[in-house]
Amino acid sequence: MGTHLVTNQPPPLEGYNAYEQDVALVEAVHREGAAWAHAELVALGTFYGSREARELGTLANTYPPVLHTHDRYGQRRDEVTYHPAYHRLMAVAVEAGAHAAPWQDHRPGAHVARAAKLFLLTQVDAGHGCPISMTYAAVPALRRQPELAEEWEASLTARRYDPRFLPARHKEGATAGMAMTEKQGGSDVRANTTRAVPVGRSGPGREYRLVGHKWFCSAPMSDIFLVLAQAPGGLSCFLVPRWLPDGTRNPFLLQRLKDKMGNRSNASAEVEFEDTAGWLVGEEGQGLAVILEMVNHTRLDCVVSSAAGMRLGIVEAAHHAAHRAAFGKLLWHQPLMRCVLADLILESEAATALAFRLARAFDASARGDPREAAFRRIATPVAKYWVCKRHPAHAAEALECLGGNGYVEDSGMPRLFRESPLNGIWEGSGNVICLDVLRALRREPASKEAFWEELDAVRGLDPRLDRFCLSLGREMEEADEPSARRLVERMALALQAGQLVRNGPPALAEAFCASRLQEQTGHTFGALPRGLNIDPILDRARVQLP
Ligand SMILES: Cc1cc2nc3c(=O)[nH]c(=O)nc-3n(C[C@H](O)[C@H](O)[C@H](O)COP(=O)(O)OP(=O)(O)OC[C@H]3O[C@@H](n4cnc5c(N)ncnc54)[C@H](O)[C@@H]3O)c2cc1C
Repeated sequence: MGTHLVTNQPPPLEGYNAYEQDVALVEAVHREGAAWAHAELVALGTFYGSREARELGTLANTYPPVLHTHDRYGQRRDEVTYHPAYHRLMAVAVEAGAHAAPWQDHRPGAHVARAAKLFLLTQVDAGHGCPISMTYAAVPALRRQPELAEEWEASLTARRYDPRFLPARHKEGATAGMAMTEKQGGSDVRANTTRAVPVGRSGPGREYRLVGHKWFCSAPMSDIFLVLAQAPGGLSCFLVPRWLPDGTRNPFLLQRLKDKMGNRSNASAEVEFEDTAGWLVGEEGQGLAVILEMVNHTRLDCVVSSAAGMRLGIVEAAHHAAHRAAFGKLLWHQPLMRCVLADLILESEAATALAFRLARAFDASARGDPREAAFRRIATPVAKYWVCKRHPAHAAEALECLGGNGYVEDSGMPRLFRESPLNGIWEGSGNVICLDVLRALRREPASKEAFWEELDAVRGLDPRLDRFCLSLGREMEEADEPSARRLVERMALALQAGQLVRNGPPALAEAFCASRLQEQTGHTFGALPRGLNIDPILDRARVQLP
């Protein structure tokens, strides 16, 4: 008789289709205009649900990037090396066009299809999503300076990942990063002290020299960076390549890598500029407006990848519960566990629905739809605040569904948990994002109108949502800084409820409105009101293994 019979542990969670089995994702992709991408997403879903992908994600995080400041002779090297698993994940993502496809593929829904790719890749490793997202986001900002876009867009959108540290003209593809944050200020970039002086004539597209530092600069092996610096005419945005046109290195002194809580597969560096060449994008003094074009796109990706993190939490929690018995029953059949899982699924579905509605707004505004551009303006910070804010609590509860196993690294849940606060911090931290919503409400009336038009379309479908919108309207009129979080939270809940009431299965919409829109709401996941029909909610989320 052996001593080690393993029973009552779930089978490995692998070999499922991460796209096809995600009903909420498939519905969102179809609803928001990217049904044409279904076959490609199914193929990607096979990879991202495979054992191979899962192992690559684990390896890329177990063996994080390494900084080499100098070579053996004392010369500066300023290079970061990565585990091959990271490069493989990058290659799959770039070949799928997750970094840039919509800038070449003009079919309606292209941004939605790309968001679905990001949603899938994030679930095996969120870290490489950072350079993928920044490359996507850099293109529209670069287009503010057409000759620079002309020079770089082909390599940024190429579907070839080429990690070699070479001048871009010798490479098959390029990636982009951004550097705004300095030691003395991240949210308030006007406090930037990095200086830029023109080499000859000043002006858009011209060469400048930068002196200064950046306190956070992620994916430092990217080929180009959009960098904020103070030019004579004010805060300006520069394209800073790692190599100069003559084939020599542009000074880009990597001082240190951050020892981060999570997101470990992705390097985030401190960098110094010492007469570093940069080319002005847009006018001097317009740096904030230019970089915001980039930041808005990465904010969309924060929403998409936090929704993806929630989906991963659900998959793991539901899988465990479906195979683990306690007190004579599978956890899946324990009434209180069913409440917890159903509540987590509600949150994940609402996040996914809002993320993909937002992706459609990006898609339509890229094609010049002014109403969708106005909706995008306000829905981006609203969704960024709320979906990213919900992720850490969601990850913690999903982790707990696995009991002690969830607290152990092998399960992947600690990595998910450590990752979960990040999207709330970068690309605008919570308060800053809420203040941005107030700014939009005050200064851009079209965005406020677009917000209400979105909700007018669902008026009459649920009395709780109607009442909620009435009181939200009053709060909006009285909005001030101290109440901004409450306001933005409620704006997000209204948008999520609107999505679910219009499109979701009735049981899901009912449970969301009953648990999120009334005064008597629970404060932890699983504290659902009595009497809800949660079976259909649970049935949507479970993954079937082959
Ligand atoms: C892993 C990681 C990677 C990063 N990568 C990059 C990168 O590649 N490039 C880059 O440029 N930056 C990067 N960042 C930096 C990130 O964008 C900043 O940390 C973020 O914008 C916040 O800036 P800060 O850290 O200076 O905080 P601060 O601006 O000092 O803010 C601190 C807190 O104060 C709050 N706050 C600020 N202003 C107000 C106000 N007026 N009212 C109320 N509250 C306020 C903020 O919401 C925040 O909670 C990265 C950060 C992390 C963690």
